[in-house]
Amino acid sequence: MDKNLTGREIRLAGRPVGTPGHQHFTLVSTAVPPLAEGQILVRNTWMSVDPYMRGRMDDKPSYLPPFQLDAALEGSAIGEVIASKSTTIPTGATVSHFLGWRDYAVLDATSATLVDTSSVPPQAYLGVLGTTGLTACAALTEAAPVRPSDTVFVSGAAGAVGSVAGQLARLLGAGTVIGSAGGPDKAKKLTESFGFDVGLDYQAAPIAEQLTRAAPEGIDVYVDTVGGDHLTAAIGAARSGARIALVGAVSSYNATGPVPGPENLYEAYWKELTLRGVLVTSYFHRFPEWIERASGWLRDGSLRTEETVVQGLEQAPAAFLGMLNGANTGKMLVRLDD
Ligand code: NAP
Repeated sequence: MDKNLTGREIRLAGRPVGTPGHQHFTLVSTAVPPLAEGQILVRNTWMSVDPYMRGRMDDKPSYLPPFQLDAALEGSAIGEVIASKSTTIPTGATVSHFLGWRDYAVLDATSATLVDTSSVPPQAYLGVLGTTGLTACAALTEAAPVRPSDTVFVSGAAGAVGSVAGQLARLLGAGTVIGSAGGPDKAKKLTESFGFDVGLDYQAAPIAEQLTRAAPEGIDVYVDTVGGDHLTAAIGAARSGARIALVGAVSSYNATGPVPGPENLYEAYWKELTLRGVLVTSYFHRFPEWIERASGWLRDGSLRTEETVVQGLEQAPAAFLGMLNGANTGKMLVRLDD
């Protein structure tokens, strides 16, 4: 390893109140530390930007610690091992790990996972074969299991989790799959590219009205990535015994005060609804099974994914801010190599 190696990293420059902006990030060049025994040096080639990172910009306790001011951000990344003092991960391997937002990562080999890129591109492990896909799987097989002929509603349906969830619902036997996304182009894409039966544009009219029209007999399963008016609409449209997977609430991530709960939550008791949270880290034991199943579906064309790719580490804040604002279709990724 070159002792004088330097790399760039993106640090948290300030904590946003409400919507974050470019002023909250700074790009810094720094020396790459030498490898200790058991460590690897990874040249990152792809990194992920995800909605949960918005929560980590706040100084509030959550299931992951807050990002530290003036320290490099973290997140999922893929890279090539260019030096190794590990007996398990050799130079030349492709790995996934959690030290994104930087050109080079030095980490214990035990914190990296070897990935098989023989039949899928490496960045698939940041999307459908990563936590994104596993979240959709956990939502529809554990939190809100799909049964044959169910009517399933998915919000954030043109995004990373939602686009996989809609297709997975169909593969699991759903009868009708309804998705919602922002804007007419995304709504159209839901039916034309991601196999939904109905694509709703939540910006065009209140989502509750649109959902009632699309599912006059009601819905059996809802994958909630948005919260707010979408969760209220789904509770209102739910049939007796419906299951709701609470996956995320992106509509409230930039809120500056308390967010009201759904005003119709009381319907859950007489409809005997199940509302169950999903935290993907609780399902990591299912990764091998999910990767095998999803890889097969990717190969035979039953699962279709899209990526929105932004080029260059310096553009990572723009990718993150854009993703929060709906600039992505499918998974938002940052490509770090040429
Ligand atoms: P994503 O859907 O690919 O990207 C975020 C999307 O949020 C944007 O593309 C935008 O789509 C939508 N959005 C932004 N503001 C909105 C609003 N006010 N109302 C409705 N939609 C809005 O992101 P993702 O990675 O797949 O994550 C989706 C959700 O799943 C997030 O809530 C995330 O926190 C959650 N998640 C949870 C877990 C877990 O373990 N529980 C794991 C992964 C992800 P439009 O253009 O359609 O508005």
